[in-house]
Amino acid sequence: MKISTSHHHHHQGNKFSSFFCNLFGHHYVVSKKVTEHIKEYKCTHCHKEVTTDVSGKLSALTPQMQEINSALEDMYRKRRSRVVHQVA
Ligand SMILES: [Zn+2]
Repeated sequence: MKISTSHHHHHQGNKFSSFFCNLFGHHYVVSKKVTEHIKEYKCTHCHKEVTTDVSGKLSALTPQMQEINSALEDMYRKRRSRVVHQVA
């Protein structure tokens, strides 16, 4: 479901979901594949976003982490396309 209104309502609506997550744990689904080993995840209940960090653990997807991930993704894509070129 898409919510086109402001983000204020969005955060308030998360309170119950967060409570649910505290009880039962988050239900993360992959929202973005950054590299072979690094992915971004989003909780289907509270929409909390996390990402795999360099040590392979999940940590909060801060704007800083998002920047790192997009840089990694860029490097990963370039490296893959270069490998394909070398093979072909
Ligand atoms: Zn959650």
